[in-house]
Amino acid sequence: MLRSPIKHCKQCGTAVVYRLPDDGDTKERAVCPACSTVHYENPLNVVGTVPHWGDKVLLCKRNIEPRWGKWTLPAGFMELGETVAEGAARETTEEAGATFEMEGLLSLLNVVRVGQVHFFFRARLLSDQFDPGFETIEARLFAEHEIPWDEIAFRTVKETLERYFADRKTGSFGIHQVDIV
Ligand SMILES: [Zn+2]
Repeated sequence: MLRSPIKHCKQCGTAVVYRLPDDGDTKERAVCPACSTVHYENPLNVVGTVPHWGDKVLLCKRNIEPRWGKWTLPAGFMELGETVAEGAARETTEEAGATFEMEGLLSLLNVVRVGQVHFFFRARLLSDQFDPGFETIEARLFAEHEIPWDEIAFRTVKETLERYFADRKTGSFGIHQVDIV
């Protein structure tokens, strides 16, 4: 499900119409009939980490919808003014209250259906003590065989965890590009 359509012009508040703009653009856009502003809609970035401690990874039990009570890696929408890695680190601090050192990019997932691109970095935990924020019911470490695979909140998280553990076995981490259509 893509985002809900734009209803009103961000410049003047007039109801927009979806049509091909007059400049030769080949995609329908929300165009304002009053002031002619064309509103472009582009994918959003979701940024997060795979925090690891020994042979375990840190998962957070969600205290927010959607998927309340399901387990996820710390992740959220990138903010303006930060890099992808800075956003991933911020989410890890906010959701898990973890202390860690950022490592390399592990996965880049195109979630075409919802207009999102997700990025997950590996992050080496410096402590196994966590102080989760309000978005998290519980933050805890799981070895691979303990991962609650049926209770993972999002497919991007599942795909990322699978690649993390597969790479761990080979001892060499790559950057994985995954298309979820
Ligand atoms: Zn307008």
